[in-house]
Amino acid sequence: MAHINQNFLKLPGGYLFPEIGRRVRAFSAEGTPMPLIRLGIGDVTQPLAPAVVEAMKKAAEEMGHKDTFRGYCEETCCAYDFLRFAIQNSYRAHGVHIADDEIFVSDGAKSDCGNIGDIFAVDNVVAVCDPVYPVYVDTNAMAGRAGEFDGERWSNLVYLPCTAENGFFPEVPKDRVADLIYICSPNNPTGTAATREQLKVWVDYANANGSVILYDSAYEAFITQPEVPHSIFEVEGAKTCAIEFRSFSKTAGFTGTRCAYTVVPKALERDGASLNALWNRRQGTKFNGVPYVVQRGAEAVFSPEGQAQTKAAIAYYLNNAKVIKEGLSAAGLTVYGGVNAPYLWVRTPEGIGSWDFFDLILKRACVVTTPGAGFGPSGEGYIRVTAFGDADATREAVERIKAVL
Ligand SMILES: *Cc1c(COP(=O)(O)O)cnc(C)c1O
Repeated sequence: MAHINQNFLKLPGGYLFPEIGRRVRAFSAEGTPMPLIRLGIGDVTQPLAPAVVEAMKKAAEEMGHKDTFRGYCEETCCAYDFLRFAIQNSYRAHGVHIADDEIFVSDGAKSDCGNIGDIFAVDNVVAVCDPVYPVYVDTNAMAGRAGEFDGERWSNLVYLPCTAENGFFPEVPKDRVADLIYICSPNNPTGTAATREQLKVWVDYANANGSVILYDSAYEAFITQPEVPHSIFEVEGAKTCAIEFRSFSKTAGFTGTRCAYTVVPKALERDGASLNALWNRRQGTKFNGVPYVVQRGAEAVFSPEGQAQTKAAIAYYLNNAKVIKEGLSAAGLTVYGGVNAPYLWVRTPEGIGSWDFFDLILKRACVVTTPGAGFGPSGEGYIRVTAFGDADATREAVERIKAVL
């Protein structure tokens, strides 16, 4: 008889978004007084840039001719040279040199953040920020690294509180050494971003303790402030302790197109083994690459037209973020984030919990947000508002929220 991976039975049944969906449906069923505006989603809404679409059309045409057809990608790390060069150039613009065989192109930062656990032992101590992007937690729970779930916390995870007091950036743990440390910057859900100095503390900690930092930089393209590094490899010492995940999803609207990349430095070794070699082995065995057509589309993101067009979409979202931040602040709420990220982390009014504030805004303003408590215990007392919506709808949502406060 086959036995299942019992760890799956320990997972809470996808609580946050199903519960939001349930409340929104129940409310809609009564007939909403105004059309709903959804500022809860973490998905982009602007279409692909014309330069990307053109590049994919051209690549699709090539696939239909014998002499330009491509089968399995045989190049280094599943990355066609043209895309790897473009990625290397984008790092070079920030003073970071990445070697050819350090860039692994994949179908998503979500998959890579989840799959990276394959190359690490099951008894590593995992540290996550609180609040957190749930993928880091759930994938470690599936692998058996999280222990038992008590309804709020996993027994074996080290939770690093990210609160207004510490600027939503965690301090290094004092009572237990964390072996694997997930850091997401710019952050989902808090919308804040780490400075070089803040990251340096963790890089030094990781090098001193032999830990590995798993750095999720999916929102790198939203960085506007010069003190915020675009890559953890801008921080001295990071190449011996960090793996970086990036994605075209939020950068260029690829959430439905699928393309991302992970940088595993060759200088990163543990137990005398190269993590780059292990990841290469893992990907070579379980993954067969991103479609040629999609890699051509991703390459076009870096072209002059592609840069102008994708930056315009990001400016559009960041302008929504500004509208939300200014509007809700003017209404007396305390609002964090939104400067280097498409997320606003909004403090609930005194004495109102996350879910109650979510309900209040849903029922009185017909605006859907996300309760912060759904991202971890330290998210209680906040809601997350996203800037990925339509500009006019966002403006209206802010006016409606202001009116009910
Ligand atoms: C959206 C998002 C990603 C991107 O995942 P893809 O699989 O590349 O679409 C990664 N990390 C975080 C924190 C995200 O919010």
